[in-house]
Amino acid sequence: MTRQAAAYRDRRVPLAGDAALVHPPIGGQGLNIGVHDAVNLGWKLAQVVKRTSPEKLLDTYHAERHSVAARVLGNTMARTALRRTDDRTKALGSTVSEFLGMDEPRMRLAAEMSGLGIRYDLGEGQSLLGRRIPDLELITANGPVRVFTLLHDARPVFLNLGEPGRFDITRWADRVQLIDAKHVGSWELPAIGAVTAPTAVLVRPDGYVAWVGDQTQEGLADALTTWFGPPTAA
Ligand SMILES: Cc1cc2nc3c(=O)[nH]c(=O)nc-3n(C[C@H](O)[C@H](O)[C@H](O)COP(=O)(O)OP(=O)(O)OC[C@H]3O[C@@H](n4cnc5c(N)ncnc54)[C@H](O)[C@@H]3O)c2cc1C
Repeated sequence: MTRQAAAYRDRRVPLAGDAALVHPPIGGQGLNIGVHDAVNLGWKLAQVVKRTSPEKLLDTYHAERHSVAARVLGNTMARTALRRTDDRTKALGSTVSEFLGMDEPRMRLAAEMSGLGIRYDLGEGQSLLGRRIPDLELITANGPVRVFTLLHDARPVFLNLGEPGRFDITRWADRVQLIDAKHVGSWELPAIGAVTAPTAVLVRPDGYVAWVGDQTQEGLADALTTWFGPPTAA
């Protein structure tokens, strides 16, 4: 059986990793969930402690991570059930194996087990929204750089892939790194394949896309405020 805490935070006490759940290690996902919890929570806690963001930012921790772990727990129960040795379970196992011989189910399961298929519900929008940004090779004025390298400082990144100066984030410049860059080639996500290349993306310190730009700045100020606090005075 599996168990999960009903709430991932009670006032000043957040739960992460195995403190929040109990499940059989089958499938080997416990460590992955725990590290992912910590990375999701860490930058939010830092911003709230520094008073960059209001406390309600911490509510997004439960909203994002509880459902991901609940799904993993469901998977581990299904896998545990498939280990039974009675004839019916063996027949079910053969059927599941046949499905996993097909590309689509195999890709989905692999994306789910690795955590690369996660999509946080950040509202309607382009398929990148709420998903982990791919580790693209970018070309900048300072030479080539990979996206994940830009995240090493655990600070948000605004990636402008269009004309330099097209987007104005001056009032968040104390918190958000603005990078003008180009990317040659397609955008490919583990769970869903190729996606339309955006003009700009706002990336959270945990690597998840908080806003996707398509020529206009619509919704950008809201996304910046939601995730990285109110703007500095003009
Ligand atoms: C047999 C087995 C195989 C596994 N295989 C995999 C795998 O292949 N892949 C995978 O991703 N996961 C696997 N897991 C799961 C994985 O090990 C856990 O999900 C992961 O270690 C949880 O990390 P955690 O930091 O949340 O908790 P823990 O690793 O349990 O760390 C908690 C730490 O807190 C310490 N502690 C507890 N109470 C106190 C206290 N009062 N004061 C101070 N310190 C305290 C403990 O000593 C411990 O060091 C496996 C688990 C088992 C049991």
